[in-house]
Amino acid sequence: MESNDNELIEEPPAPPCPPCPSRPLMIVVSAPSGAGKSTLCNRLVAEFPRIAYSVSCTTRAPRGDEQDGEHYFFLSKKEFKERIKNGEFLEHAKVHGNFYGTLEDTVLYAMEGGSHVVLDIDVQGAGQIRKSLARLDPRNPIRRGFTDIFISPPSREELEKRLRGRGTDGDDVIRKRLAAAAEEMKRAKEYSFQIVNDDLETAYAELKMSILAASGA
Ligand code: ADP
Ligand code: 5GP
Repeated sequence: MESNDNELIEEPPAPPCPPCPSRPLMIVVSAPSGAGKSTLCNRLVAEFPRIAYSVSCTTRAPRGDEQDGEHYFFLSKKEFKERIKNGEFLEHAKVHGNFYGTLEDTVLYAMEGGSHVVLDIDVQGAGQIRKSLARLDPRNPIRRGFTDIFISPPSREELEKRLRGRGTDGDDVIRKRLAAAAEEMKRAKEYSFQIVNDDLETAYAELKMSILAASGA
């Protein structure tokens, strides 16, 4: 009599289907204005559908063809203060004379949907989030998924060239941003990953490698 040994072998359980990250990352990216952070982050979210961009709130006026709800939620100062009072912000800061803030719901919504989320925020906001991590429940997705990356320009001269080349800011705004850049650069060492955006392709490859390393892959 023939026996079929295969019948005795249990089928292995099916692997989980959708390619959801099991631990979504909250990727905080900071850089002096003009270093190329938006260029790099936009490319990242365009290439990877499971990386979402956290749309911040700001009191500054829209620049160029920026759209409300897509690039920022453009709020009046009164609306912004109301949201602070309601405790809606994960972090908020005054940057270059305007208020900026990340809504906690925006971040959690993306992470609970199984996406990594990129926060393009300044060094003050990043510092606030780092400080608040220890107070969060260890199971909180923000605490579990936090990582941070600092992007520097190759030099002050190149930063100025990029700010002027972008053609979106007047001379006084550019001067303010260059002055702030020197202070922001001093805080680069607080970040887990530091990237110099000289050659764009190299910087983009390093950005992807950093995220891969943070995800433990
Ligand atoms: P940020 O978001 O940091 O303020 P942007 O992404 O808007 O900066 O970039 C500022 C300008 O520099 C843009 O005109 C962009 O096309 C240009 N830029 C970005 N990265 C590079 C690079 N590696 N080399 C040359 N120009 C760059
Ligand atoms: P911009 O006006 O050029 O879009 O942004 C100016 C600065 O504000 C950048 O350094 C950017 O990272 C920062 N920023 C944008 N959104 C936020 C935010 O939600 N919180 C904080 N703290 N900074 C932000």
